[in-house]
Amino acid sequence: MQVSNPGTDAAGAVKRISVLGATGSVGDSALDIIASSPDRYQVEALTANANVDKLAEIALARGARFAAVADESRYQALKEALSGSGVTVGAGLSGLEEAASMKADIVVGAIVGAAGIQPTMASLLAGNQVALANKEALVCAGDLVMAEAAKLGKPILPVDSEHSAIFQIFDEANRGEIEEVTITASGGPFRTWQADEIAAATPEQALNHPNWSMGSKVTIDSASLMNKGLEVIEAHHLYRMPRAKLSVVVHPQSIIHGLVTYTDGSMLAHLGAADMRIPVAHCLAWPERAPANTRRISLIELGRLTFEAPDLTRFPCLRLALEALDEGGGLPNIMNAANEIAVAAFLAGQMTFGGIPTLVERTMLEMQKAGESGAAGSIEEVLATDKSSRLVAERLLERIN
Ligand code: NDP
Repeated sequence: MQVSNPGTDAAGAVKRISVLGATGSVGDSALDIIASSPDRYQVEALTANANVDKLAEIALARGARFAAVADESRYQALKEALSGSGVTVGAGLSGLEEAASMKADIVVGAIVGAAGIQPTMASLLAGNQVALANKEALVCAGDLVMAEAAKLGKPILPVDSEHSAIFQIFDEANRGEIEEVTITASGGPFRTWQADEIAAATPEQALNHPNWSMGSKVTIDSASLMNKGLEVIEAHHLYRMPRAKLSVVVHPQSIIHGLVTYTDGSMLAHLGAADMRIPVAHCLAWPERAPANTRRISLIELGRLTFEAPDLTRFPCLRLALEALDEGGGLPNIMNAANEIAVAAFLAGQMTFGGIPTLVERTMLEMQKAGESGAAGSIEEVLATDKSSRLVAERLLERIN
């Protein structure tokens, strides 16, 4: 069904939402919340990488004004699929940036990987409020992204469930009295496995997350605990918290998503079902709250919640991410690029699961030795380091095999 786009009403009650990465898992959650409250939300622009069929379908169903596909070879197909619909189309980086900078009340950044950096910056430079799922943009270019958001005077709204949890319990007025910010981790499918079993895990096993249904890259990152490392770096930028005040606790039930401990001993926790529509609904309604047909939890049915320390020996990716944050400069960006290469190689059957931390660590060391791990002063420098790290990782991948 095609719905027409009425635009923002005079009272400003209808929010215009753009979704970058609309065809993915977070994109699905965002479009579900939007579709269930047409009186509150209208779609402005949508983007995808190459999935033209799904992009065109949701653009028509939600009455988008603009749709863009990153893969330029899919431009013609998108144009044909939306011909006569009134939806304007674009392609390539310029198409993504056009979508990101169209005037909107909120731009949901749900592209996966470093590919989200430039569209995120384009949204901020256009003055749009960003709701960010794309943690890699903060890992790679956190200082620059946060500086742009600060200039704008609009907070980045976190979509990541842990960071959304912390956003809701973080008392900014008393930030000096915050002792610790804790991010929970489910522990992934290999939480109880031995190191040698983890190293030999197959893509099918690694994609079998116990609690969350997500895109393949973040699911593999959850299995290696790299995701938790990326999230600690993300929290460092979002909340301007030093590494010493950030901690990770394994909580297999994924009910508590984040905790903040204050100097008076109070520990505030955020609870909710493992349903990404909850943090998305929070972002879209912010600073208000709005009803959403999301999953609920019953404490009585849950019975008990358990917690354990993360094991940095069996899960070296978490150790590497914490070291990258400690070292700072360009190292988190280098680590992210190497991890993207490693995850793709693992999913393509070119490398074992155990090869992921090996490739990431060797790439970090090589880039450091080459003197290429300094802090970036611009997005261009971030992208240049990302590119050279990928080249190093691809070369090392041939040797690891
Ligand atoms: P998916 O793989 O499900 O979706 C990724 C989206 O990005 C798709 O729309 C895809 O388009 C698009 N995309 C992929 N590559 C590019 C590219 N090179 N240029 C432009 N667009 C691209 O990912 P998720 O939705 O799972 O994750 C998105 C982000 O949100 C990640 O950073 C992840 O870490 C984060 N996140 C995800 C959570 C989840 O529950 N899934 C939870 C918390 C955070 P196409 O469909 O055409 O390939």
